[in-house]
Amino acid sequence: MGIRYNQCPKCRSRNTVDILYGMPTAEAFQKAEKGLLKLGGCTIMPGQPNSFCNDCENEWTSLEAVDFEYSKIRGIKASAINSSDQKWMVEIDFETREVKWNGTFQRVMEQTELDTFKERLKWTKVLDWKAKYGDGADWWVEISREGRNVERCGKGSYPSQWEEFVEVLSEVTMRGLY
Ligand SMILES: [Zn+2]
Repeated sequence: MGIRYNQCPKCRSRNTVDILYGMPTAEAFQKAEKGLLKLGGCTIMPGQPNSFCNDCENEWTSLEAVDFEYSKIRGIKASAINSSDQKWMVEIDFETREVKWNGTFQRVMEQTELDTFKERLKWTKVLDWKAKYGDGADWWVEISREGRNVERCGKGSYPSQWEEFVEVLSEVTMRGLY
């Protein structure tokens, strides 16, 4: 199960609903009256917000929702076995910008480098990965987040962005992790 993108990026309330565009049905009208849906009007245009906060009336797009969820990440730990059967582990702390490889300190990232890393992490869609791939844990990823931590693991089976993910970690640790 991936992350649910239903928290208001402004006031952090989870009392949020989808915004429906186009001509609403009678059922949609009823839902809107009960606060289960927000009617966005008949005009449908690209880039329109698609979530609404019942508490602070903020509206946001799904892209903003994704950015918000990734902004809550405080650090990441990942472990896997490379092609030479060697286990590796990488830890990155977003607050201290420290990078550890197999439990030992490697270096401190520059802020701009960390920002790039975070952006690339978003591209790997790690928050949308399933919790489990296959039976067992040849590899695992733990993401520390404000609120709830997230874990992903698998054996013999990988998310489709796995190679990209390992590549990003290889660059950050300056180690070949394949
Ligand atoms: Zn809000």
